[in-house]
Amino acid sequence: MQVKDIDRTRSAELYEKAKTYFPGGVNSPVRAFKSVYGTPLFIEKGDGSHIWDADGNEFIDFCCSWGPLILGHNHPAVREKVIEVMQKGMSFGAPTALESELAELILSNNRFIEKIRFVSSGTEAVMSAIRLARGYTKRDKVLKFEGCYHGHSDSLLVKAGSGLVTFGETSSAGVPKAFADETVVVSLNDKKALQEAFEEFKGQIAAVIIEPVPANNGLLLQSKEYLQYLRDICTQNSTMLIFDEVISGFRVGFEGAAGYYGIEPDIITYGKIIGGGLPVGAYGASADVMSHISPEGSVYQAGTLSGNPVAMAAGIAQLSELLKPGFYEDMQAKTQSFVNDIQNFVAERNYQFKVFTIGSVFWFAFTDQESVSRAEDIDPASMAKFKLMHHELINRGIYLGPSGYEVGFISAAHTKADLEKTKTAIFDSIDIVFKS
Ligand code: PMP
Repeated sequence: MQVKDIDRTRSAELYEKAKTYFPGGVNSPVRAFKSVYGTPLFIEKGDGSHIWDADGNEFIDFCCSWGPLILGHNHPAVREKVIEVMQKGMSFGAPTALESELAELILSNNRFIEKIRFVSSGTEAVMSAIRLARGYTKRDKVLKFEGCYHGHSDSLLVKAGSGLVTFGETSSAGVPKAFADETVVVSLNDKKALQEAFEEFKGQIAAVIIEPVPANNGLLLQSKEYLQYLRDICTQNSTMLIFDEVISGFRVGFEGAAGYYGIEPDIITYGKIIGGGLPVGAYGASADVMSHISPEGSVYQAGTLSGNPVAMAAGIAQLSELLKPGFYEDMQAKTQSFVNDIQNFVAERNYQFKVFTIGSVFWFAFTDQESVSRAEDIDPASMAKFKLMHHELINRGIYLGPSGYEVGFISAAHTKADLEKTKTAIFDSIDIVFKS
C-alpha cells in the first residue's frame, strides 16, 4: 500500500537555520541524513519507544539515540534519579559517592574488569585505552579491523590500504600520516591476515582492538572461535586485546560481549549505555593494568566532567534496571520473534533480504548471503534499496538509523503493539522496494 510523504516543513526550516551555525547543519555527521532523505528530521521529544519530530510526526524509534536508550526515552526511574541529583548541583570537578556507587554496580556484576575509569564519550574511552595499552606494553603499534569503528581519535581514523596486511591510510583529512603508520589494519574474520601482521610487526603491536560485536558497518558477527583465536594470538605475542564494547557492553548482556562469548580481553571500553542518554564512557581492566593510569601510574588521562554526578545518576538508575532478573532474556526473546517474523516474510517471497541479530540489536541487509562477517562482503549497491526502504518506513512512522550500514536497537519500552505495527510497515516497505 502506498502512503503519502510526511510533512517535513518545520524540520526543513530548522535545518536551514542550523546550517548557518554548524558545519553541514549538524553536530555529528550521520545526523544530516545524507545517505537517505538528504535532510534530517529535527526531533522534539521522546517518550518510551516513540519520538516526535518538529512537524508533529510520531515515530516508533529503533535508533534509540544510537543505542544508549535500552530502556526507551525518558524512562521514569532514570528521569527521577537525574532530577533528584541535579537539585544538589550539576558538577563539582571533585569526587562524589555516586561515582563509586556506579562503579560498584558495574564491577560487582562483571567478571572481566577489576577497576574502571569514567570518561565522557566512547571516543575518549577508546583513545585512553589505546594509550594505556601503549604505556603498559611500551610498544607503539595498534592493530584494528576494517569495518570496526572506534570513535574519531587520530590513531583510529585509519582504514585499510590495499593488500592483506597494510599500514593504514587515514580516513580523515587532518590525521598525520605518522599516526596512520602506527596503525595496522586487517580484515575481520581472517586468521591468515592476523598471523601475517604479527609476523611482520613482531614485538611491536601494543594492542589489537576489535568491536567483538562489530555494529558500525552493518552487523558483522564474528564466531566465538575466531574471537578465541584473537585472544590466543594476542596472548602469545604479549599484545593486549581491547574489546571496544561501546555498543555491545550492557546490550548483549550485562557483561557485554566478553560475557556473551566467555572471552577475557585485557581492556574493555564502554560508552553511551552507561549514561542512559547522558554523556558517559568508561574503560576498565585488571587492577594491575589500571594501576598504570595516573595519578597511580604514568599513563596520563583526565577529564573535567569525568564522573559527572548527573551522568552517574542516570547510569545508576539505568543499570539497576538492567540487573533485574529476566531483563536480557525478555529483550532477546522479543527481538528474536520480531526478526523471525521478518525472515519468514522475506523467505516466502524469495526476496534477497536478511536480518542479522544478536541480543536486542538487528541489522537489515539486502543480501542473500547466509552470513556477513567482513566489511568487504557488503555490496555498496544494496544501499540504494535501503534508502528507499528507509523513506517508506519514515512515511509509515518507523524511525531507523539513517544509513543501511547502521544497526537497529530494540528497547525495553517497545511493546508488542509497536513491533506488530513495525512489522506491517516493514512488509509493505520491502514489497515496494522489490517491486519498484
Ligand atoms: N566505539 C564504538 C564501538 C562505537 O560504536 C562508537 C560510537 N558509536 C564509539 C566508539 C565512539 O563513541 P562516541 O560517539 O560516544 O564518541
